Amino acid sequence: MFGPLIAKPGSSQNNKTGSWRSGLKPKYLKKNCIACNMCAIICPEKCISGEGKNNYDCDYVFCKGCGICATVCPKKDIEMVKEEGK
Ligand code: SF4
Ligand code: SF4
Repeated sequence: MFGPLIAKPGSSQNNKTGSWRSGLKPKYLKKNCIACNMCAIICPEKCISGEGKNNYDCDYVFCKGCGICATVCPKKDIEMVKEEGK
């Protein structure tokens, strides 16, 4: 049902970020997560995973800081924060 929103699944699994591109990174608050899996489904880098409530996290090596996960989270349990050092 979210198919049209997924542009290129896993498009840059081979494209390590190394350093942030956006200057923002997602912070998983792990307070109200209901394990809906939306963030993991929507992430264009496919770098989010988790098992169960309040247990989701992303791999910062691949995350581009696009913020889609924070936008899509129905519980607002992901917050985009400024990357340290930038
Ligand atoms: S900000 Fe969220 S959706 Fe975007 S690449 Fe990082 S983990 Fe994936
Ligand atoms: S979208 Fe939000 S509520 Fe759903 S699994 Fe991800 S962090 Fe949890």
